[in-house]
Amino acid sequence: MKSIFRRIIEREIPAEIIYEDDRCIAIHDIHPVAKVHALIIPKKEIPRLSEADAADRELLGYLLGIATIVAAKLGIADTGFRVVINNGKDAGESVPHLHLHLLGGEPLGWKHG
Ligand code: 5GP
Repeated sequence: MKSIFRRIIEREIPAEIIYEDDRCIAIHDIHPVAKVHALIIPKKEIPRLSEADAADRELLGYLLGIATIVAAKLGIADTGFRVVINNGKDAGESVPHLHLHLLGGEPLGWKHG
């Protein structure tokens, strides 16, 4: 079965797209936990960070670079932002298609991010 993010990438379901290129898409999270909450999603469907292999390392770095570009597009590059990956049950991962959360737009608490 296709992941929800695969369906967004293929335009089967709508999303507010912030950025897209041949390797990834960035969208606004549907349930934001900060004033700014975007998701950076690779088009390659890696279930989670722990299942990325050595060949994916360049893509992982690329996604971090895109996170900074998206932060600038959303006007939070100077005020600060956080990038989070939830991996597995204890982290609260809910969509098994690797993605980076980009959070900002207000001071962020830390206990669990
Ligand atoms: P996770 O919990 O796996 O780290 O993050 C999944 C994120 O995807 C959640 O923050 C959730 O709100 C978001 N999400 C789930 N379904 C959709 C959707 O259909 N559209 C958008 N834009 N975000 C979604």
